[in-house]
Amino acid sequence: MDFLRPTTWEDALAAKADQPEAVPVQGGTDVMVEINFDRRRPPALLDLNQVAELREWAMVDGACRVGAGVSYTTVIEELAGPLPGLAQAARTVGSPQIRNRGSIGGNLGAASPAGDSHPPLLAAGAVVEVESLARGVRMIPAAEYYLGVKRSALEPDELIRAVHVRPATGPQYFSKIGTRNAMVIAVCSFAIALHPGERRVGTGIGSAAPTPRRAPEAEELLAQELDWGAPLDPALAGRFAELCAAAAAPIDDVRGAAAYRVHAIAVMARRTLTWAWNDHLARRAA
Ligand SMILES: Cc1cc2nc3c(=O)[nH]c(=O)nc-3n(C[C@H](O)[C@H](O)[C@H](O)COP(=O)(O)OP(=O)(O)OC[C@H]3O[C@@H](n4cnc5c(N)ncnc54)[C@H](O)[C@@H]3O)c2cc1C
Repeated sequence: MDFLRPTTWEDALAAKADQPEAVPVQGGTDVMVEINFDRRRPPALLDLNQVAELREWAMVDGACRVGAGVSYTTVIEELAGPLPGLAQAARTVGSPQIRNRGSIGGNLGAASPAGDSHPPLLAAGAVVEVESLARGVRMIPAAEYYLGVKRSALEPDELIRAVHVRPATGPQYFSKIGTRNAMVIAVCSFAIALHPGERRVGTGIGSAAPTPRRAPEAEELLAQELDWGAPLDPALAGRFAELCAAAAAPIDDVRGAAAYRVHAIAVMARRTLTWAWNDHLARRAA
């Protein structure tokens, strides 16, 4: 197995163009598990750890541009203010060791329906920056990025460079159900982001469909019917929860039953909307 170790982004793109079958490695918390269990035996590994810029984040055109190699720990320690939903999700990932090594770009690269960063990225309307030597940069909205179980819009010669997320303008929440409190892959999860300036609410459903996905009809309901100056109507919250559950398409598997997941999505949707709405009203009153 070849081990490629570029030190610049340009060299990394050139290596991927030269050997599209080379598997990128950032934290290795997914890749190394697959290799250790012999689920994957790639002809080459493309180690991105020497490309320092991938571990950095910056404000670019009003959005946080989070490098693909930024770890969950960095998100928690440095980005909880502008990206509270993503930081909440990051706190639920694995253990401290996994949060130190595991990256947002690695979660996107794996594109697991259960990946914890996906629901908050969907709810916030994030955009994934990918690049290839041949075709340059593509900006892919998160809602168009996930194509199937562990399949994404990333082409074989492309690498993920960053994800762009606008700083929160309203409350955001992430909720995850697991079989225990730590070191657990989600049975299902849900993220919500209030965008008060646009009178809009974003959603993200995790581990309850072949891909992470939004609940567009539930978002539309709130766009039409929410009164942004009034207490939350419990009947409206209930209809929102039903539409979120209807957007899910889960399966029975070792982590949970499909029927349980549908029920849980409704519960998490109603709860997170209520938490976010209470915060929203408190901020208005302050
Ligand atoms: C014990 C344990 C617990 C875990 N718990 C959780 C959890 O609670 N929640 C959760 O969501 N995940 C969890 N995971 C999975 C994993 O930690 C996450 O998916 C993490 O985000 C992967 O990041 P990484 O940098 O380690 O990725 P890697 O393993 O390096 O890569 C993952 C995938 O992304 C690709 N990739 C990496 N970087 C790029 C790039 N720049 N461009 C293109 N492709 C790229 C790789 O080729 C690979 O396919 C856990 C894993 C372990 C081992």
